[in-house]
Amino acid sequence: MPLQLSNEQLKDAANEFGTPVYVYHAERIKEQYENLLEAFKDTDVKFFYAAKALTNLHILRYVKSIGCNVDCSSINEVKLALLAGFEPSAILYTSNNISFDEIEEAKQIGVSINIDSISNLKKFGNKFGHRYPVGVRLRPNIMAGGNLKISTGHSASKFGVPVEDIDEILKVQEKTNLHIRTLHIHTGSEIKDVEVFAKGIEVLFEAVRHFPEVEVIDLGGGFKVPYMPGEEATDIELLGKKVKEEFEWYEKKDGRHLQVWFEPGKFLVSEAGYFITRVNVLKESGEITFAGVDSGLNHFIRPMFYGAYHEIENISNPSGKKRKYNVVGNICETDTFAEDRLLPEIREGDLLVFRNAGAYGFEMSSNYNSRFKPAEVMLKGGKAHLIRRREILDDLLRSQQEI
Ligand SMILES: *Cc1c(COP(=O)(O)O)cnc(C)c1O
Repeated sequence: MPLQLSNEQLKDAANEFGTPVYVYHAERIKEQYENLLEAFKDTDVKFFYAAKALTNLHILRYVKSIGCNVDCSSINEVKLALLAGFEPSAILYTSNNISFDEIEEAKQIGVSINIDSISNLKKFGNKFGHRYPVGVRLRPNIMAGGNLKISTGHSASKFGVPVEDIDEILKVQEKTNLHIRTLHIHTGSEIKDVEVFAKGIEVLFEAVRHFPEVEVIDLGGGFKVPYMPGEEATDIELLGKKVKEEFEWYEKKDGRHLQVWFEPGKFLVSEAGYFITRVNVLKESGEITFAGVDSGLNHFIRPMFYGAYHEIENISNPSGKKRKYNVVGNICETDTFAEDRLLPEIREGDLLVFRNAGAYGFEMSSNYNSRFKPAEVMLKGGKAHLIRRREILDDLLRSQQEI
């Protein structure tokens, strides 16, 4: 059984720090990282935690302490990673459609960079020639899963340089003497099927023939974690075997050794996170019973934004008689967390916990309706640490100017 926090631990955190609150279980992150290391132990591999899933400095420090590298999606995340103590050599910067200034700044800091457009590759090559190795993010034209919103490698996606434009990349390389060290793809999130990764590898092995200086194949993130009961995660053991086989085959065939990089976000932190809310109001409306909690799409938008399913538990009444509820938020928008969900009887004041809330939970929160962002708590070594206090009115006013 994977590590889990008990209802008692969650209740204690809610009572001590108030609700709504995100609680992260540090050792569960480590457990996931060790699962990855084990699955890929026979491959020359490096993991870069995709920080955008959860950027709290204490989480970043913890991720560093267990030996993992970090992948950043903005220059600000690069700066947070530095503050958390990562060396530039352990930082990767993979973004899209960013200004060349940001790429230059990242180069100045000395981090690894994946560039995702011909335009920026040209600018980089013109300015730095062969002096600084870079990666190229390719768009492999692969559909990952069924959800277009979280699929990034298909042929209508804005991400990366379309693989059919390799000639263009080669022209830039020839003209500017650009040093291309890495080929990168990231085909989306929640990729359950190992075959999607296999297809990506196939596309990259085809592409890499054109790039004699490439030493690294970066396969991005997107490992799936189970959301619904009975759902399965990406089979990382099978993926580990597949990757080992493929890269050994390639090395034998072409005599080239390639290092493999991955950028897991959700896989590392999702299951370590719990979002605890309290029920403000119960409302009957015909057939439906609404349970209105003290949060909404301002704090946890995945159900509304992606149609994401998150398990909900009533930790105040776990053995109550089951009934159906629509769990909704308190924001002046339709913010439904779950419809027709069978849950132990809910009373006003009960604590409802959303599971699997560590990734893209707090990170996507906002101040909509002028509500405060929730607190964040990290449980480590059995001890609860407040790692971000709940906001106060001053936080809403801080960046507003007198005129
Ligand atoms: C978001 C992102 C990831 C992480 O995706 P997960 O689904 O959280 O694993 C990795 N690489 C890049 C480039 C990303 O944008």
